[in-house]
Amino acid sequence: MNIKEKLSIYADVLENEPMSKHTTYRIGGCVRFYIYPKNLISLMRVLHILKEEKMAYEIMGRGSNVLWSDNFFEGAVINLDRYMNESYIEPDGTIVCQAGCSIINLAVEAANHSLTGLEFATGIPGSIGGGIYMNAGAYKSDFSNILDSVMVLVDDQIVWMKKDDLMFGYRKSSFQSHPNWVILAARLKCKKGNKEEILSLMDSRRERRLASQPLDKPCAGSVFRNPESIPAWKLVDELGLRGYQIGGAQVSLKHSNFIINANGQASAKDVRELIALIQSLAKEKYDLDLITEVEHFHCE
Ligand SMILES: Cc1cc2nc3c(=O)[nH]c(=O)nc-3n(C[C@H](O)[C@H](O)[C@H](O)COP(=O)(O)OP(=O)(O)OC[C@H]3O[C@@H](n4cnc5c(N)ncnc54)[C@H](O)[C@@H]3O)c2cc1C
Repeated sequence: MNIKEKLSIYADVLENEPMSKHTTYRIGGCVRFYIYPKNLISLMRVLHILKEEKMAYEIMGRGSNVLWSDNFFEGAVINLDRYMNESYIEPDGTIVCQAGCSIINLAVEAANHSLTGLEFATGIPGSIGGGIYMNAGAYKSDFSNILDSVMVLVDDQIVWMKKDDLMFGYRKSSFQSHPNWVILAARLKCKKGNKEEILSLMDSRRERRLASQPLDKPCAGSVFRNPESIPAWKLVDELGLRGYQIGGAQVSLKHSNFIINANGQASAKDVRELIALIQSLAKEKYDLDLITEVEHFHCE
Protein backbone atom coordinates (compact mmCIF):
# COMPACT_ATOMS: atom_id res chain seq x y z
CA MET A 1 0.00 0.00 0.00
CA ASN A 2 1.26 3.51 -0.72
CA ILE A 3 1.03 6.31 1.89
CA LYS A 4 -2.16 7.76 0.46
CA GLU A 5 -3.90 4.39 0.60
CA LYS A 6 -2.80 3.88 4.20
CA LEU A 7 -3.96 7.36 5.26
CA SER A 8 -7.25 7.01 3.38
CA ILE A 9 -8.35 4.19 5.69
CA TYR A 10 -8.63 6.74 8.48
CA ALA A 11 -9.19 10.09 6.83
CA ASP A 12 -10.26 12.06 3.80
CA VAL A 13 -7.01 12.73 1.96
CA LEU A 14 -6.37 15.32 -0.74
CA GLU A 15 -3.12 14.98 -2.69
CA ASN A 16 -1.11 17.92 -4.08
CA GLU A 17 -3.56 20.33 -2.52
CA PRO A 18 -3.00 24.11 -2.90
CA MET A 19 -2.82 25.78 0.50
CA SER A 20 -4.26 28.91 -1.12
CA LYS A 21 -7.61 27.08 -0.78
CA HIS A 22 -7.12 26.72 2.98
CA THR A 23 -5.75 30.09 4.12
CA THR A 24 -7.73 33.31 4.47
CA TYR A 25 -4.88 35.07 2.63
CA ARG A 26 -5.68 32.80 -0.35
CA ILE A 27 -1.92 32.28 -0.57
CA GLY A 28 0.16 29.10 -0.41
CA GLY A 29 1.71 26.46 -2.65
CA CYS A 30 0.73 22.80 -2.80
CA VAL A 31 1.20 20.33 0.03
CA ARG A 32 1.64 16.62 -0.66
CA PHE A 33 -1.32 15.62 1.55
CA TYR A 34 -4.15 17.60 3.14
CA ILE A 35 -5.80 15.30 5.67
CA TYR A 36 -9.15 15.36 7.50
CA PRO A 37 -9.08 12.60 10.17
CA LYS A 38 -12.51 11.14 10.89
CA ASN A 39 -12.15 11.01 14.69
CA LEU A 40 -9.62 10.72 17.50
CA ILE A 41 -8.64 7.13 16.68
CA SER A 42 -8.12 8.10 13.06
CA LEU A 43 -6.04 11.11 14.06
CA MET A 44 -3.79 8.90 16.18
CA ARG A 45 -3.39 6.40 13.34
CA VAL A 46 -2.66 9.18 10.84
CA LEU A 47 0.07 10.52 13.14
CA HIS A 48 1.56 7.02 13.43
CA ILE A 49 1.60 6.52 9.67
CA LEU A 50 3.26 9.90 9.08
CA LYS A 51 5.88 9.05 11.71
CA GLU A 52 6.55 5.64 10.14
CA GLU A 53 6.90 7.28 6.74
CA LYS A 54 9.12 10.02 8.23
CA MET A 55 6.82 12.62 6.72
CA ALA A 56 6.72 16.14 8.22
CA TYR A 57 3.29 17.51 9.10
CA GLU A 58 1.51 20.57 10.45
CA ILE A 59 -1.78 20.88 12.30
CA MET A 60 -3.88 23.63 10.83
CA GLY A 61 -7.21 25.20 11.70
CA ARG A 62 -8.96 27.61 9.33
CA GLY A 63 -5.69 29.15 8.14
CA SER A 64 -6.78 32.59 9.32
CA ASN A 65 -3.52 33.46 11.05
CA VAL A 66 -1.16 31.90 8.56
CA LEU A 67 1.18 32.98 5.80
CA TRP A 68 1.98 29.76 3.94
CA SER A 69 4.96 29.49 1.58
CA ASP A 70 4.53 29.61 -2.20
CA ASN A 71 6.71 26.50 -2.55
CA PHE A 72 5.69 22.84 -2.66
CA PHE A 73 5.72 21.16 0.79
CA GLU A 74 6.62 17.45 0.72
CA GLY A 75 4.64 16.86 3.89
CA ALA A 76 1.13 16.77 5.30
CA VAL A 77 -1.35 19.19 6.78
CA ILE A 78 -3.85 17.79 9.26
CA ASN A 79 -7.12 19.62 9.72
CA LEU A 80 -9.69 18.80 12.41
CA ASP A 81 -12.47 21.10 11.20
CA ARG A 82 -14.37 18.65 9.00
CA TYR A 83 -15.06 15.87 11.53
CA MET A 84 -13.82 16.86 15.01
CA ASN A 85 -16.18 19.77 15.48
CA GLU A 86 -18.83 18.85 18.04
CA SER A 87 -19.79 20.92 21.05
CA TYR A 88 -21.92 20.35 24.15
CA ILE A 89 -23.35 22.73 26.74
CA GLU A 90 -23.44 21.69 30.40
CA PRO A 91 -26.14 22.96 32.81
CA ASP A 92 -23.79 25.47 34.53
CA GLY A 93 -22.92 27.10 31.18
CA THR A 94 -19.64 25.28 30.55
CA ILE A 95 -19.12 24.67 26.82
CA VAL A 96 -17.21 21.53 25.93
CA CYS A 97 -16.02 21.85 22.35
CA GLN A 98 -13.75 19.99 19.96
CA ALA A 99 -10.81 21.79 18.37
CA GLY A 100 -12.39 21.87 14.92
CA CYS A 101 -15.39 23.99 16.01
CA SER A 102 -15.73 27.38 14.35
CA ILE A 103 -15.13 30.17 16.89
CA ILE A 104 -17.81 32.38 15.31
CA ASN A 105 -20.45 29.62 15.25
CA LEU A 106 -19.70 28.77 18.86
CA ALA A 107 -20.03 32.41 19.93
CA VAL A 108 -23.45 32.53 18.23
CA GLU A 109 -24.49 29.26 19.85
CA ALA A 110 -23.42 30.53 23.27
CA ALA A 111 -25.47 33.69 22.73
CA ASN A 112 -28.51 31.66 21.66
CA HIS A 113 -28.24 29.79 24.97
CA SER A 114 -27.99 33.14 26.86
CA LEU A 115 -24.36 32.45 27.76
CA THR A 116 -21.95 35.32 28.16
CA GLY A 117 -18.15 35.19 27.79
CA LEU A 118 -17.60 34.57 24.08
CA GLU A 119 -18.80 37.95 22.78
CA PHE A 120 -15.19 39.04 22.14
CA ALA A 121 -14.83 36.20 19.62
CA THR A 122 -17.73 37.21 17.36
CA GLY A 123 -15.50 38.24 14.44
CA ILE A 124 -12.57 35.86 14.80
CA PRO A 125 -12.77 33.55 11.77
CA GLY A 126 -10.72 30.67 13.21
CA SER A 127 -11.22 27.31 14.89
CA ILE A 128 -11.16 26.61 18.61
CA GLY A 129 -7.77 24.86 18.20
CA GLY A 130 -6.25 27.88 16.45
CA GLY A 131 -7.90 30.29 18.89
CA ILE A 132 -6.44 28.55 21.92
CA TYR A 133 -3.00 28.10 20.30
CA MET A 134 -2.89 31.86 19.54
CA ASN A 135 -4.81 32.90 22.66
CA ALA A 136 -6.87 34.90 20.19
CA GLY A 137 -8.68 37.88 21.58
CA ALA A 138 -10.29 41.25 21.06
CA TYR A 139 -11.92 44.00 23.08
CA LYS A 140 -9.67 43.41 26.11
CA SER A 141 -10.61 39.75 26.37
CA ASP A 142 -9.13 36.53 25.02
CA PHE A 143 -9.49 32.74 25.24
CA SER A 144 -7.54 32.51 28.48
CA ASN A 145 -10.30 34.56 30.17
CA ILE A 146 -12.89 31.85 29.65
CA LEU A 147 -10.80 28.68 29.46
CA ASP A 148 -11.00 26.08 32.16
CA SER A 149 -8.86 23.34 30.61
CA VAL A 150 -7.66 21.95 27.30
CA MET A 151 -7.58 18.34 26.11
CA VAL A 152 -4.28 17.72 24.36
CA LEU A 153 -2.67 14.83 22.49
CA VAL A 154 0.94 14.63 23.68
CA ASP A 155 2.78 11.85 21.85
CA ASP A 156 0.34 8.99 22.40
CA GLN A 157 -1.22 10.29 25.60
CA ILE A 158 -4.42 12.28 26.00
CA VAL A 159 -4.00 14.83 28.77
CA TRP A 160 -6.32 17.47 30.24
CA MET A 161 -4.22 20.57 30.94
CA LYS A 162 -5.46 23.30 33.29
CA LYS A 163 -5.44 26.85 32.04
CA ASP A 164 -3.00 28.01 34.72
CA ASP A 165 -0.37 25.54 33.48
CA LEU A 166 -0.47 26.82 29.90
CA MET A 167 1.35 30.17 30.29
CA PHE A 168 -1.21 32.29 28.47
CA GLY A 169 -0.29 35.89 27.66
CA TYR A 170 -0.97 38.43 24.93
CA ARG A 171 -1.37 36.16 21.84
CA LYS A 172 0.80 33.62 23.66
CA SER A 173 0.38 30.08 24.99
CA SER A 174 2.56 27.09 25.84
CA PHE A 175 1.33 25.44 22.63
CA GLN A 176 3.58 27.77 20.63
CA SER A 177 6.66 26.17 22.18
CA HIS A 178 5.29 22.62 21.78
CA PRO A 179 4.50 22.23 18.08
CA ASN A 180 3.87 18.49 18.47
CA TRP A 181 1.00 18.91 20.90
CA VAL A 182 -2.38 18.62 19.24
CA ILE A 183 -5.25 20.54 20.82
CA LEU A 184 -8.27 18.20 20.78
CA ALA A 185 -10.94 19.95 22.83
CA ALA A 186 -11.55 22.53 25.52
CA ARG A 187 -13.82 23.39 28.40
CA LEU A 188 -14.93 27.04 28.23
CA LYS A 189 -16.49 28.61 31.31
CA CYS A 190 -19.37 30.78 30.14
CA LYS A 191 -21.98 32.29 32.48
CA LYS A 192 -25.70 32.81 32.31
CA GLY A 193 -26.51 36.27 30.95
CA ASN A 194 -29.18 38.26 29.18
CA LYS A 195 -29.66 37.03 25.62
CA GLU A 196 -30.73 40.41 24.16
CA GLU A 197 -27.75 42.17 25.74
CA ILE A 198 -25.32 39.52 24.51
CA LEU A 199 -26.69 39.61 20.96
CA SER A 200 -26.72 43.40 20.88
CA LEU A 201 -23.07 43.58 22.05
CA MET A 202 -22.12 41.06 19.36
CA ASP A 203 -23.98 43.09 16.71
CA SER A 204 -22.27 46.32 17.66
CA ARG A 205 -18.86 44.66 17.57
CA ARG A 206 -19.59 43.13 14.19
CA GLU A 207 -20.49 46.58 12.89
CA ARG A 208 -17.28 48.06 14.34
CA ARG A 209 -15.26 45.40 12.53
CA LEU A 210 -17.07 45.96 9.27
CA ALA A 211 -16.40 49.68 9.54
CA SER A 212 -12.71 49.39 10.47
CA GLN A 213 -11.36 46.20 8.83
CA PRO A 214 -10.90 45.31 5.13
CA LEU A 215 -13.12 42.24 5.34
CA ASP A 216 -13.82 42.29 1.59
CA LYS A 217 -10.19 41.31 0.83
CA PRO A 218 -8.19 38.17 1.65
CA CYS A 219 -6.09 38.81 4.76
CA ALA A 220 -5.07 37.21 8.06
CA GLY A 221 -6.20 39.85 10.54
CA SER A 222 -3.61 41.95 12.39
CA VAL A 223 -0.12 41.34 11.06
CA PHE A 224 1.89 42.69 14.03
CA ARG A 225 1.51 42.37 17.77
CA ASN A 226 1.02 45.76 19.40
CA PRO A 227 4.25 47.05 20.98
CA GLU A 228 3.69 48.37 24.53
CA SER A 229 4.33 52.00 23.57
CA ILE A 230 2.11 52.38 20.48
CA PRO A 231 -0.56 50.41 18.61
CA ALA A 232 0.98 48.70 15.58
CA TRP A 233 -1.47 50.35 13.14
CA LYS A 234 -0.42 53.80 14.37
CA LEU A 235 3.24 52.98 13.99
CA VAL A 236 2.70 51.77 10.40
CA ASP A 237 0.76 54.98 9.73
CA GLU A 238 3.53 57.14 11.18
CA LEU A 239 5.98 55.38 8.88
CA GLY A 240 3.82 56.63 6.01
CA LEU A 241 3.07 53.11 4.78
CA ARG A 242 -0.74 53.03 4.73
CA GLY A 243 -1.64 51.81 1.23
CA TYR A 244 1.97 50.85 0.38
CA GLN A 245 2.13 47.90 -2.00
CA ILE A 246 4.67 45.28 -3.00
CA GLY A 247 3.46 42.99 -5.80
CA GLY A 248 -0.07 41.98 -4.83
CA ALA A 249 0.42 42.65 -1.10
CA GLN A 250 -0.80 45.97 0.22
CA VAL A 251 -1.00 47.69 3.61
CA SER A 252 -4.75 48.13 3.85
CA LEU A 253 -6.04 51.67 3.36
CA LYS A 254 -8.78 50.87 5.88
CA HIS A 255 -6.59 49.44 8.69
CA SER A 256 -2.83 49.80 8.55
CA ASN A 257 -2.08 46.75 10.72
CA PHE A 258 -3.70 44.59 8.02
CA ILE A 259 -1.85 43.47 4.90
CA ILE A 260 -4.29 42.41 2.20
CA ASN A 261 -3.96 40.23 -0.88
CA ALA A 262 -5.09 43.20 -2.98
CA ASN A 263 -5.49 41.61 -6.40
CA GLY A 264 -6.00 37.98 -5.33
CA GLN A 265 -2.60 37.16 -6.90
CA ALA A 266 -0.24 38.12 -4.06
CA SER A 267 2.50 35.64 -3.18
CA ALA A 268 3.87 34.81 0.26
CA LYS A 269 7.08 36.44 -0.97
CA ASP A 270 5.24 39.75 -1.58
CA VAL A 271 3.74 39.68 1.91
CA ARG A 272 7.06 38.76 3.52
CA GLU A 273 8.87 41.58 1.73
CA LEU A 274 6.26 44.08 2.87
CA ILE A 275 6.48 42.80 6.46
CA ALA A 276 10.29 43.01 6.36
CA LEU A 277 10.17 46.57 5.03
CA ILE A 278 7.81 47.69 7.81
CA GLN A 279 9.96 45.96 10.44
CA SER A 280 13.20 47.50 9.21
CA LEU A 281 11.73 51.03 9.06
CA ALA A 282 10.20 50.63 12.55
CA LYS A 283 13.62 49.65 13.85
CA GLU A 284 15.46 52.38 11.99
CA LYS A 285 13.12 55.27 12.83
CA TYR A 286 11.70 54.30 16.26
CA ASP A 287 14.07 51.58 17.49
CA LEU A 288 11.04 49.25 17.85
CA ASP A 289 11.06 45.52 17.11
CA LEU A 290 7.74 44.71 15.46
CA ILE A 291 6.83 41.07 16.07
CA THR A 292 4.41 39.33 13.74
CA GLU A 293 1.15 37.91 15.03
CA VAL A 294 0.66 36.09 11.71
CA GLU A 295 2.53 32.77 11.68
CA HIS A 296 4.89 31.92 8.81
CA PHE A 297 4.91 28.34 7.53
CA HIS A 298 7.78 26.96 5.48
CA CYS A 299 8.72 30.47 4.35
CA GLU A 300 12.49 30.11 4.10
C1 LIG B 1 -10.56 39.08 9.17
C2 LIG B 1 -9.77 38.51 10.33
C3 LIG B 1 -9.97 39.05 11.60
C4 LIG B 1 -9.24 38.53 12.69
N1 LIG B 1 -9.45 39.07 13.93
C5 LIG B 1 -8.75 38.59 14.98
C6 LIG B 1 -8.94 39.12 16.29
O1 LIG B 1 -9.76 40.01 16.50
N2 LIG B 1 -8.20 38.63 17.30
C7 LIG B 1 -7.28 37.63 17.11
O2 LIG B 1 -6.63 37.22 18.08
N3 LIG B 1 -7.09 37.09 15.88
C8 LIG B 1 -7.78 37.53 14.83
N4 LIG B 1 -7.59 37.00 13.58
C9 LIG B 1 -6.55 35.93 13.39
C10 LIG B 1 -7.09 34.49 13.51
O3 LIG B 1 -8.45 34.40 13.13
C11 LIG B 1 -6.92 33.92 14.93
O4 LIG B 1 -5.58 33.90 15.33
C12 LIG B 1 -7.49 32.49 15.00
O5 LIG B 1 -7.52 32.09 16.33
C13 LIG B 1 -6.67 31.47 14.20
O6 LIG B 1 -7.41 30.25 14.17
P1 LIG B 1 -7.27 29.24 12.95
O7 LIG B 1 -8.12 28.07 13.22
O8 LIG B 1 -7.49 29.93 11.67
O9 LIG B 1 -5.75 28.84 13.12
P2 LIG B 1 -4.66 28.68 11.95
O10 LIG B 1 -4.42 30.03 11.34
O11 LIG B 1 -5.04 27.58 11.04
O12 LIG B 1 -3.39 28.24 12.81
C14 LIG B 1 -2.83 29.15 13.73
C15 LIG B 1 -1.83 28.38 14.59
O13 LIG B 1 -2.55 27.47 15.43
C16 LIG B 1 -2.04 26.16 15.28
N5 LIG B 1 -3.17 25.23 15.46
C17 LIG B 1 -4.38 25.28 14.89
N6 LIG B 1 -5.16 24.27 15.32
C18 LIG B 1 -4.42 23.55 16.19
C19 LIG B 1 -4.66 22.38 16.97
N7 LIG B 1 -5.84 21.73 16.94
N8 LIG B 1 -3.67 21.92 17.75
C20 LIG B 1 -2.47 22.55 17.79
N9 LIG B 1 -2.18 23.65 17.08
C21 LIG B 1 -3.14 24.16 16.29
C22 LIG B 1 -1.47 26.11 13.87
O14 LIG B 1 -0.48 25.11 13.74
C23 LIG B 1 -0.88 27.51 13.76
O15 LIG B 1 0.40 27.55 14.35
C24 LIG B 1 -8.31 37.48 12.48
C25 LIG B 1 -8.12 36.95 11.20
C26 LIG B 1 -8.85 37.46 10.13
C27 LIG B 1 -8.66 36.86 8.77
